[in-house]
Formats: sequence, structure tokens, C-alpha cells
Amino acid sequence: MRTSWGSATDRGRVRRLNEDSLLAYPPIFMVADGMGGHAAGDVASRLAVEEFSQLAGRSAASPDDIHDCFHRTATRLRDSIAAGKMAGTTVAGVAIAAHDGGSYWLVFNIGDSRVYRLSGGELEQISVDHSVVQELIDAGELDPADATGHPERHVITRAVGTGAEPEPDYWLIPAGTADRLLVCSDGLTSELDDDAIRDVLVTAADPQDAAQMLVARALEAGGQDNVSAVVVDVAMAPGEADTESTRRAPSRALLLAEEASPPATAWDEEIDGVTIPSPTRARAPEVS
Ligand code: MG
Repeated sequence: MRTSWGSATDRGRVRRLNEDSLLAYPPIFMVADGMGGHAAGDVASRLAVEEFSQLAGRSAASPDDIHDCFHRTATRLRDSIAAGKMAGTTVAGVAIAAHDGGSYWLVFNIGDSRVYRLSGGELEQISVDHSVVQELIDAGELDPADATGHPERHVITRAVGTGAEPEPDYWLIPAGTADRLLVCSDGLTSELDDDAIRDVLVTAADPQDAAQMLVARALEAGGQDNVSAVVVDVAMAPGEADTESTRRAPSRALLLAEEASPPATAWDEEIDGVTIPSPTRARAPEVS
């Protein structure tokens, strides 16, 4: 399966740090949104990208491969973050997968970063958030239309963290010949609704243009959080067995969210007194 892709990330208009990290290199396209403040959240998301990037360059990845990446990330987090500090990261993405001779997308998620698919002009959210708001919606206690203003909208219920074994969800979906996939952090989806996201994805033909336009629109809408987007297009002729990817320039293919570090800030100051209350229920500083 051949793919072309683009990616963009920005720290936004409020945050001092970009704690998002992303990876766009076949067979892996992912976003990680770190939590825990300086030297914690940014480290957490970067560790996740480092572990998943070990799969870069392969023709496909299996569920076991992805699961190993989650576990190695969790182990390194426990070893890397100072004792007594909590840090975590969301991880959401898609991997090119082979199954019964066909090409598939293996979608994986922990937290509230998201994976969408645009197919036949329709935008569909594939991943399901691990969030308090999603649980309330599932329980019929919250109308999805009221989710954006909910006071607990940034509280996630699962993360790859220093205190918990990772519990990712997986979906295996057939790769359509004209699919466009979007992987993004909540800094995008908290600023743009599905219609606004779809508008960009159907308008911008080039995936790099689409990723940059999505991030630009999120900034225009407020940019309250770090925002990241990876856009992947499928280019697969019927019956095609070629698994070689259409590679872009390396600087575009492998992009880690990095910027100059501001003065070191104590973790509890960074997160404004809000702590991560339990290994499975992580509260982000202001937004996840
Ligand atoms: Mg975020």
C-alpha cells in the first residue's frame, strides 16, 4: 500500500511548551499529547514517539508490534520520570497492517487524541475517547452537542502513564483506495468541530497543505492548547502488491514536536496545582 502524508504541530497561543509529539513515517502515523508539565509531559510524548518510531520503515505493523511499543513507552516512562512525579501521554494513530493478504489500517488509541477517516466525502471518527465526557455520553447522561462546554471535557480516563499498565483500544479497518486519514491531538478537536475539519480535508488536495491548514484554523479559533495533525492519503491501485511508500522529504516524514526549552519549572507549578489523581484517571494541567 502506498501512502502520502503531511503533518503540522504548534504550541498554540496560550501554552508555553508544546507537549505534543508526532510521528509520520510508514507504517506508523501517530500523535502523542503529553501531560505533567515541563520535563514530564513533553518527555512522555517524546518517549512514545521514540518507541513507535522503531517500526518506521517496515512495510506493515502487527497488533503485537503496536502493543510492544505501548509497553516499552510505559516502562521507559516509569524509569525516566523522577520518583513521586506523575506524567503521562495520550497515544493515537494508525498503522499500515496486513491481514489475510489484504491491506488494513490498524487504528490504536489511549486517551483523547483522535483518528478520523474521510471516505466518500464523509468524515467518521474511528477512535473512541477515553474521557469523562465520552463516558457520560455513553451512559446517556450527556448530549454530545453539550460536550464542548462540559467542565470535565479535558479529563481523560486512560493514558500511557507512570503508574498504570497501558490499555489501548484497537480497530482493524480495510484500507479503501481513496481514504484520507487524520490523526490529531485534542487541541485541534477542541477548537474545530467535525464540519470544520471535514471542510479542510475535502478542500486541500495535498496532505501537507491539509495538515497545515487544520493547525492554522485551530490557532485562528483560539489555539488554547497545543495542536497537532497528521494527514495520510492512500494511493493503492486495485490488486496492487507494491508496499513501497511514497516518501516525502525526511524533515517532513519524521517530525518530533520540539522547541527551545523555557526556564525549568517545577511540575506542580506547571500544572497549576492540579494533580493526576490516579493512574487511570489523568487530569491535564488546563487541557489534556
Ligand atoms: Mg492537548
